[in-house]
Amino acid sequence: MAETIYDVAVIGAGPAGAQAAVSASHQMRHVLVLHSGKVSFSRGRAYWSKSVEIEDAPVFPGIIGPNFAKELMRWMESRPVVDFMIGGEKRKTGIDIRDGLVLNLKRNGVLFELEASTKTLKRGREVAVEHFKSRTVVVAAGFDDKWPDIEFEPGEERLYKQYATVFRYAGNRKGWHVCIRCDGHLHVNEHLALLGVGDYIYEAAIGAQDFTDKITILTNGRPHGMSPPVLKQIRERKINIIETKIKRHIGEKTDLLGFEMIDGSELFFHGFLVDEGLIPNTKFLEGWDYQKDEEGLIIANEDMQMLDSKEAPIPGLFAAGDIISGERNLIATAFALGQEAGLSASDSLRRWHSPAEEANG
Ligand SMILES: Cc1cc2nc3c(=O)[nH]c(=O)nc-3n(C[C@H](O)[C@H](O)[C@H](O)COP(=O)(O)OP(=O)(O)OC[C@H]3O[C@@H](n4cnc5c(N)ncnc54)[C@H](O)[C@@H]3O)c2cc1C
Repeated sequence: MAETIYDVAVIGAGPAGAQAAVSASHQMRHVLVLHSGKVSFSRGRAYWSKSVEIEDAPVFPGIIGPNFAKELMRWMESRPVVDFMIGGEKRKTGIDIRDGLVLNLKRNGVLFELEASTKTLKRGREVAVEHFKSRTVVVAAGFDDKWPDIEFEPGEERLYKQYATVFRYAGNRKGWHVCIRCDGHLHVNEHLALLGVGDYIYEAAIGAQDFTDKITILTNGRPHGMSPPVLKQIRERKINIIETKIKRHIGEKTDLLGFEMIDGSELFFHGFLVDEGLIPNTKFLEGWDYQKDEEGLIIANEDMQMLDSKEAPIPGLFAAGDIISGERNLIATAFALGQEAGLSASDSLRRWHSPAEEANG
């Protein structure tokens, strides 16, 4: 059987990746989607809104993260791969969806080669690695939120186990939120605890003012690290800063109620938000010369094409969603960027272009 060479390979099946895949297949492209949700704990950010309905995005009423992830999968599955004829040539269109954590992306001539781990890692089982080829790639792998270091045992092997207690409360109505814009409405006029340090966490406090003026910043044992102008405003706004280390969560089932502090005191709040930064899911781009910002988020042009250090578009390489620098980290934005990337990747595969474009190479 001839080796499959996809038109577009999409890395990630969140809203950005799903939209890129559907848009490209709608332009008659043969699309591969590789997503790590089942083979690793990197399930995508949308998944982590576990019990909070998504209200501000073009999705079904009452939908929560895990169901949203399933619906995106069904949407892509509605476009299976089929053959069609054009100009006497047999081609394929539709979406192949594969479980796979992309480990490495390489260019080989005009093609991209993707190396992916396609089975869940288990003790005693060899890593299952498969290779895929594609003419273009859309990176829609998003980022992982950094979770708070509370009841965290650095000795443990696996991330999920390390943060087991934190994850119990993550993304619930009364648990850890990571997006004040998304979940602030659940705590109108209630007391919010924001965990983080520096002027960075203050951004969350600025967002929180739309919902409440009862705000406490917890630094979990670190110096607050805020600049003098920020500190001045914090005092004027009567925002409390507590620098004591947190010993453990106080919770009931999946509801987080408060914390026991290292000095034995107990603090209770109505809502909890953590913003300790992010980890971009871009390890597979190691060795590539591409532009990124100080957080590691990808800088792309208006066609969502990635740029090299000389600001030249990298042929065939596009990106979309939360992984893009300077965009809002929200579902509707991810859909929009995904559509742009999927269409741009498709356009780049056209056999002929306008005379002006052809003259420009
Ligand atoms: C708790 C929480 C609540 C939120 N609530 C809202 C809300 O109410 N409204 C709103 O608009 N936004 C909300 N957001 C933000 C929203 O979830 C994100 O903006 C959106 O999911 C970004 O979409 P994305 O496709 O770019 O990335 P993601 O949804 O993060 O998807 C990334 C995909 O990439 C895959 N992946 C990662 N690494 C690899 C790899 N190496 N190989 C293969 N696949 C990989 C993952 O499995 C996943 O499929 C919330 C986020 C969180 C965490």
